[in-house]
Amino acid sequence: MTVPFLDLKQQYQSIRAEILSAIATTLDSGQFVLGPDVERFEQGFSSFVGTKYAVGVNSGTSALHLAFLALGIGPGDEVITVPHTFVATVAAIRYTGARAILVDCDPVRFTMSPEALESTITSRTKAIVPVHLYGQCADMAPILAIANRHGIPVIEDAAQAHGATYKGQGAGTMGVMGCFSFYPGKNLGAYGEGGAVVTNDSRLAAKVAAMRDWGQEVKGIHALPGYNYRMEGIQGAILGVKLRHLAIWITQRQAAAARYDEMLSGAPEITGIVPPAPCPDGAHAYHLYVVRVANRDAVRARMAELGVQTGVHYALPVHLQPSLTDLGYGPGAFPVAEQTVRQIISLPMFPELTEEQGKTTVDTLRQAIADVGR
Ligand SMILES: *Cc1c(COP(=O)(O)O)cnc(C)c1O
Repeated sequence: MTVPFLDLKQQYQSIRAEILSAIATTLDSGQFVLGPDVERFEQGFSSFVGTKYAVGVNSGTSALHLAFLALGIGPGDEVITVPHTFVATVAAIRYTGARAILVDCDPVRFTMSPEALESTITSRTKAIVPVHLYGQCADMAPILAIANRHGIPVIEDAAQAHGATYKGQGAGTMGVMGCFSFYPGKNLGAYGEGGAVVTNDSRLAAKVAAMRDWGQEVKGIHALPGYNYRMEGIQGAILGVKLRHLAIWITQRQAAAARYDEMLSGAPEITGIVPPAPCPDGAHAYHLYVVRVANRDAVRARMAELGVQTGVHYALPVHLQPSLTDLGYGPGAFPVAEQTVRQIISLPMFPELTEEQGKTTVDTLRQAIADVGR
């Protein structure tokens, strides 16, 4: 049996009729950009997340960019985030002209280390951006405590964390704004690009909504910096359909992860596999299920030969990316991130992953480790 890393077609087949009818309605309405389907989705998504407002945009990257601009961040400012994230988190900071300051991740949950955070804060720090990596919230209580002590706003990069919780609060609701991506492979994926900024602050929501549409709060008056970051009507309609299924899909991801947990429960010294640590303070939404092994590249290659596709998220920390050397950090700057990226494998993870596919994946992982050695 072969196991794909992700299977978006199967999910589409399960909701095909609903999707096609929603798209037809949008096309018949002639509202191709923003419009009622996007507004309905924004309302639905804000109530799913647990904020007063959601503003739909054309990507998660745009959501981050507009969140920073809404706080007035620009050249001369500093924004703190992590090196172990998708490159977009840092790219969006740099779009504003601000400097990205990085802090290492903690070695257990792979998210922003609160211990490393405080010493990087300066008088120029304008925002702190924890990333809820793989679907698990960063350790927000100490991060928010430090941020509040210094009066610095927190923006959550929740692009991987639709449906995750931390001490009873939803991902995206704990900072002044939360940023989501609806890239097709995310927990809630459009059939194209999409993103959203969520917030309880009406002023920030209005600013983001204006800036996504050329800075217009009143049509024809471009009062704010303007971008073409609007969500398409068809994507709003598709996301509206998929939102109705999201809670179940997240439960299915968690069930698939629990099956992996059980199969991988031996001591790492014996199995050669370090499974994800249990999530102590909330619900992990399992965008990705990431284990650590020695000889990662050889293990992955062997798994691929045996028919199981895997991923690496991410192979190189942001500060070592060729396009980002001017961040000013060299090798050795973030030892935890640098060590982590050499060991991680993302196992197949999607709501429809069957018990049999999960078992094949684990058997194949064990076989690959036996074949390539540790
Ligand atoms: C996917 C992702 C983004 C960017 O979202 P896009 O919709 O692809 O622009 C930002 N941050 C993280 C952590 C992501 O995983």
